[in-house]
Order: sequence, then C-alpha cells, then structure tokens
Amino acid sequence: MNTKYRKTVIAANWKMNKVASEVKPFADELKALCPHPKWCEVVVCAPFVDLPAALKAFKDMRVSVGAENLNENDSGAYTGEVSAAMLKDIGVKYVVIGHSERRQYYGETDILVNKKVHAAINANLIPIICVGESLEQRELGITIELITLQVKTALAGVPADKMRKVVIAYEPVWAIGTGKTATAEQANEVCSAIRGVIRSLYGARVARAVSIQYGGSMNEKNAAELLAQPDIDGGLIGGASLVPAKFAAVIEAAKQE
Ligand code: PEP
Repeated sequence: MNTKYRKTVIAANWKMNKVASEVKPFADELKALCPHPKWCEVVVCAPFVDLPAALKAFKDMRVSVGAENLNENDSGAYTGEVSAAMLKDIGVKYVVIGHSERRQYYGETDILVNKKVHAAINANLIPIICVGESLEQRELGITIELITLQVKTALAGVPADKMRKVVIAYEPVWAIGTGKTATAEQANEVCSAIRGVIRSLYGARVARAVSIQYGGSMNEKNAAELLAQPDIDGGLIGGASLVPAKFAAVIEAAKQE
C-alpha cells in the first residue's frame, strides 16, 4: 500500500451467495466488529437483488455498495440484464467488471470488458476491473504479457481524467476460491507491472494514484502480508468476505503505517 498517493480499497465479492434477508445481520455484525473503518475504503459487492438491502444496511457505515456485473448497453431489448444507469440510480458506487468467473462461464472477452468499463465510467460508477492469468499461462511464462494486454484492452479509450475513479484487481485465476494464494512477492510483481502499464499509457502521476488490488484467497491470515507490499492497494475478497469476522479482520489488516 502507499496511502500517501492512493486509496486502499477492501472489497467483498459475495458472488452468488446470501439472500437479501441475510444482508442486515451481516452488516450489523460487521458494524459491531469494525464500526467506522476510516483508514480504507470498504466496499461490499453483492448480487443485484441484494443491492437495495445492502444500500439500506450499510447506509450509516463507511461502507460503499457495488454490483458484481452490468450490461454494456445503455438500455433496450436485453432481457434479464441490468444497466449502469439502473445501478447508479439506486445509489450503487462500484461495479466489478471482467471477473474471471464471468470470463470463464459467460464468455466475457477483453473487448466486452472494455465496453463495460466505458458503460460504468459514463454512468459515474467506479469499475473494479479484474485481470489475471490461468495456471497454464503462468507456467508458460506469459503472465506479464497477458496481463498487459488485458489491462490495455480494458482501458482502451478511457481518458486520463477518469483514471482516478478506476480500480484494477489482479486476480490470478489459479488462486480464486482454491485456497492457494499468490505469494506476496508474486502478487506485488504483477501489481507493479500493471502500474507500469498505466504509467506507459497515462504517465507517472496517474499511475501513482490508481488503486490496484490483489484478489485470490485473500483472508484474515494472509491479508497483512499482501497489503504490506508497495503496489498492492487493497483486496478483492470472495470466500472470506462472507463471514463478518473474517472480512473485519481483513479490513483491520489494512490499518498499516
Ligand atoms: C474473488 O471472487 O474475486 C475472489 C478472489 O475469491 P476468493 O477470495 O474466494 O478466492
């Protein structure tokens, strides 16, 4: 982390977990453990139907609410989809884009991710753009090239003045939901390379200000070490974010320096 230049963002990704009636009990428990986390931005990204309950439950806490996906189009005949404007209208602040599960199970490509990033930015939502390599790609030694392409494609056409409201999440696919975490050095190496890509696109000042998260089995035990790395500015947390005590401990681990 480098709290002098950028925000630390600790974001829960609930995936397809928790029904709406479970949101308030979660929020109450989190609030008791971690009343007003001032040292970082805390975000809970929840399923669409849980968002109204989340907005209500987290209203009086310093916790922002995010969606886990959006449609790239403004409006129209896209049955079952949810637009950026719909999310913005109810008070959502963040949206996860290009999570590896969406890339893997729903065929989302880098080009689609780019369209979704534009849709989010145009609606004044903060995209959390996920990038990451598979185990095979890591073993082929092409991690940095691949991540560079993912980041460049996701950000194509995004102007520099919008980059303050963009978060990137480095999530090695082999570490998501597997209990295998990248070492702090491995994670920092890729986060640092991502910052280098942003520097090459937008210059040093913008690169210094962009928050880059690590995600992949981050939990209450490994968060402090990962967050102590200079280029890791937060976490996107799946499994451990479903349990208030674990999520609170990750938030506490971000209280460094
Ligand atoms: C994720 O969903 O983005 C994630 C990193 O999941 P987990 O923490 O369970 O690996």
